[in-house]
Amino acid sequence: MNAPNPDIATNLERVIERIRSAEVTYGRTPNSVSLLAVSKRQPVEAIRAAYQAGQLAFGENYLQEAAEKQSTFASSDIEWHLIGSLQSNKTRAAATSFDWVHTIDRAKIAQRLSDQRPDALPPINICLQVNISEETQKAGCPPVEVLPLAAATADLPGVSLRGLMAIPEPSTDCTVQRRSFAKLRKLYEQLQDEGFRMDTLSMGMSLDLDAAIAEGANYVRVGTAIFGPRNN
Ligand SMILES: *Cc1c(COP(=O)(O)O)cnc(C)c1O
Repeated sequence: MNAPNPDIATNLERVIERIRSAEVTYGRTPNSVSLLAVSKRQPVEAIRAAYQAGQLAFGENYLQEAAEKQSTFASSDIEWHLIGSLQSNKTRAAATSFDWVHTIDRAKIAQRLSDQRPDALPPINICLQVNISEETQKAGCPPVEVLPLAAATADLPGVSLRGLMAIPEPSTDCTVQRRSFAKLRKLYEQLQDEGFRMDTLSMGMSLDLDAAIAEGANYVRVGTAIFGPRNN
């Protein structure tokens, strides 16, 4: 992979400023939005640069690639979030090496993570991924299935249900972006009304994080705006 982008510390600072200013603009509680730095397809040195600039939460999409990076930072205080799709035959690796999985769209995956979570570790934090724009061939459970999925996962001993996640259909129109994020927020509020105790709405990326914050995001997942273009 290529050398890391030399501007990572500056970019990181700008993204954090963008988040803090969106919190003010949209009347959100100060510091209520956390930044997940998405380091997929970026070299280890890029993670190191962001880490040295104070970033602790990193998102990865691919287990194999993540394993190599995680071994480099073996005893660090980095918090690892899996944000790529997880197949049921790969759950053990995720259960042992991640703190969060944002992409649970079937009860079976959560069940396996719970069973395979090592006893020495706290329950793994999960978000249920919702196919909020109801696109065909897109990951995430359909909106109507979120409630049964929450019911099936909330009491598993090895997982902690923290909230919902979505990747809406991309749009450059802020009104359209907000409409999608508002749908996820409404589902989240419905679940809270049903008694599910959750604290996380994982939504918003480099191009739509402001709209996501306007609609209640508390984790934005940002790659390109911090690290620059990815190596593919
Ligand atoms: C790659 C990725 C991101 C980051 O996207 P950027 O546009 O680079 O900010 C966020 N969330 C998920 C699930 C991703 O796969």
